[in-house]
Amino acid sequence: MAKAVDTCSFCGRSGRDVKLLINGINGAICNDCATQAYEIVKEQFGKKKSTLDIDRNELPKPEEIKAFLDQYVIGQDAAKRYLSVSVYNHYKRLLQEETNDDVEIEKSNIIMVGSTGTGKTLLARTIAKLLHVPFAIVDATVLTQAGYVGEDIESILTRLLQAADYDVDSAERGIVFIDEIDKIARKGDNPSITRDVSGEGVQQGLLKLLEGSVVNVPPQGGRKHPEQKMIPVNTKNILFICGGAFDGIEKKIAQRLNTRVVGYAASKDTAQVDRSNMLKYITPTDLKSFGLIPEIIGRLPLLTYLNPLDRKALRNILTEPKNSIIKQYVKLFAMDGIQLSFDEDVYEFIVDKALEFKLGARGLRSIVEAIMMDAMFTMPSEDKKELRVTLEYAKEEFNKTDVNRLQVAG
Ligand code: ADP
Repeated sequence: MAKAVDTCSFCGRSGRDVKLLINGINGAICNDCATQAYEIVKEQFGKKKSTLDIDRNELPKPEEIKAFLDQYVIGQDAAKRYLSVSVYNHYKRLLQEETNDDVEIEKSNIIMVGSTGTGKTLLARTIAKLLHVPFAIVDATVLTQAGYVGEDIESILTRLLQAADYDVDSAERGIVFIDEIDKIARKGDNPSITRDVSGEGVQQGLLKLLEGSVVNVPPQGGRKHPEQKMIPVNTKNILFICGGAFDGIEKKIAQRLNTRVVGYAASKDTAQVDRSNMLKYITPTDLKSFGLIPEIIGRLPLLTYLNPLDRKALRNILTEPKNSIIKQYVKLFAMDGIQLSFDEDVYEFIVDKALEFKLGARGLRSIVEAIMMDAMFTMPSEDKKELRVTLEYAKEEFNKTDVNRLQVAG
């Protein structure tokens, strides 16, 4: 029988000097050497993944991607089409690495503009479900210029690295959704770069990522671990999807439209403008007036918008998506063996309240929650196996709620 060894056969250190010593038949290996050995093995054999893990024929086509989004997100056709095309082209760019001609496909980062609570994050989360590449969602509000309180720009890539289980190759083909991009817009027309901690300085930093460069990423993120070893990540093939509410941009769009339509054919053009949804006329110029630097705008060539949610959309959001709020409640009750149903006019009531208190889509859930709270509390210990929510019941339960506590959109 082999006898236990008390030094590492690779580095020679004794068991006392290392955290862990793993014994084999005729030797031992310490935790550090084992880690290093694993890295070597990965280097040797891990490279196969430099292109996509899937075959060209298996790539979901833009129409298929959109059909998938349709199952979860109501409306927002324009944004869905742009997103589907952008993701599809991202795949194709990754596959082009195999071909050797000189035509290089540039990436088509995308920016989605739409009021809060209209489905931007939901779109991003949903598309992540069918992706074959790592995906991370980050919030631009926490970003500040290097040296200030907040997160460095590089931390955006920390999230992607985490999503890729620290496989750098794989992270370098990933997709990042940057939410609230409007929060790093320059404030005011007369910027003082040195003082603008969260505006132009951050945009300059972000530009580096969008352009494609090698960035040193802190693997744990933040500045709490100054000792951590940086990981270089090349952003050349990372697709960036940005989203923001750009509150007040409608005014800039309206101004631009008015100045343009003055004079020739003015009356005809103004008559066509749909005042209830100015975002559909958005152009890169408006992003510039809002305070994004032209270089950033240039790196986000696909610009799309989300529609405000009207009554019909809110009504559909309640029941239509694959995991709609109502379906979720039915399931919750079913788990207790209770059959839950709603009268049709209850849905109208819920939408009415969401509109009345300007709660948006996010408020729908709070309203349903308010209506169902009593039943969720008492029914699990009762024998009743059925609950039909009538308009009368819904009104009674809703009236018990402090409306100020319902979640507002935003
Ligand atoms: P934002 O545009 O602010 O990122 P979200 O995507 O976070 O908005 O939307 C908030 C919530 O509202 C979602 O989690 C979802 O439940 C609901 N919602 C918003 N828009 C839609 C939509 N178009 N289809 C289905 N649900 C939606």
